[in-house]
Amino acid sequence: MKRQIIDKLEQYETIIIHRHVRPDPDAYGSQLGLKELIRANYPEKRVFAAGTHDPSLGYLGRPELVPGGAYEGALVIVTDTANTERIDGCRYREGAELLKIDHHPDEDRYGDMRWVLPAMSSTSEMIYDLAREGAAYRGWTLTDVAARLLFAGIVGDTGRFVYPSASPDTFRAAADLISHDFDRTALYDSMFEMDAALLKLNGYIYQNMEMDENGAAVIRITSETMERFGVTPEDTAKLVGAPGIVKGIKAWLFKVEEPDQIRLRFRSKGPVVNTIAKRFGGGGHALAAGASAKDWATAEEAAQALREICR
Ligand code: AMP
Repeated sequence: MKRQIIDKLEQYETIIIHRHVRPDPDAYGSQLGLKELIRANYPEKRVFAAGTHDPSLGYLGRPELVPGGAYEGALVIVTDTANTERIDGCRYREGAELLKIDHHPDEDRYGDMRWVLPAMSSTSEMIYDLAREGAAYRGWTLTDVAARLLFAGIVGDTGRFVYPSASPDTFRAAADLISHDFDRTALYDSMFEMDAALLKLNGYIYQNMEMDENGAAVIRITSETMERFGVTPEDTAKLVGAPGIVKGIKAWLFKVEEPDQIRLRFRSKGPVVNTIAKRFGGGGHALAAGASAKDWATAEEAAQALREICR
């Protein structure tokens, strides 16, 4: 499969890479890391990263405006995005061919070609594997810039190598990536530093989360609370993994009020939560999934479902 992908890349002069909305480090890492790999090894090709820029990920780079007409005859690649509704940028359909590269369960089998490995820690780890294959097959080099991006994606999606998705291969990839020249400490600071307001909200979360005797915890964050702490719904993304350190916790749900919906973010240390997310119109991984609820009553139904699977 990896060689087929490399053959495909070689066939096209223009390659446009998309990823999912509400990007995270793995979305940016896999998208911009792949772009950097192609740019470095095929300097004659035109490569674009599409999508809306998220300033909180500015330390990784930024996507660009894809010029009009660029899609014609282009290869379009979508990284880290399970379903078409979550692709950032609707023009992904306008290329000559569409390739999906992802590590989420392959429920929406879009694209002319798919390379989907749900057991992988991250899409960035898959791009790293592609780079290794490229080295063996076509003498590719992995630049320091690409190494930093892929490392960031792996760190992000494994919760700093803590989640069980971090395999021996993930650690081997990380070992190789950190042998490149980039400032790891500065990268960690960019990824994990939190301002005082967010840390205060984190304290509020620990004080107010409701955990039952079965280890199911529910955290409700209203607009009023976020206003009081001076943070936005997007900021809360940095806190969603934190309750994992609470003794006895099995799975938890963040209910975060957004202007027109309640965002549901499920995390788990065992019970499978993407089945619940799916019931509420979302999806994701077995241990990290998300969905949206139209109101608090629906969000409470999701909380109840979480309590039930922990029983
Ligand atoms: P999040 O809580 O936004 O970090 O999402 C965790 C995981 O759940 C992500 O990797 C996504 O794959 C998935 N996910 C979140 N929201 C949705 C959604 N509305 N539809 C499908 N998958 C989602």
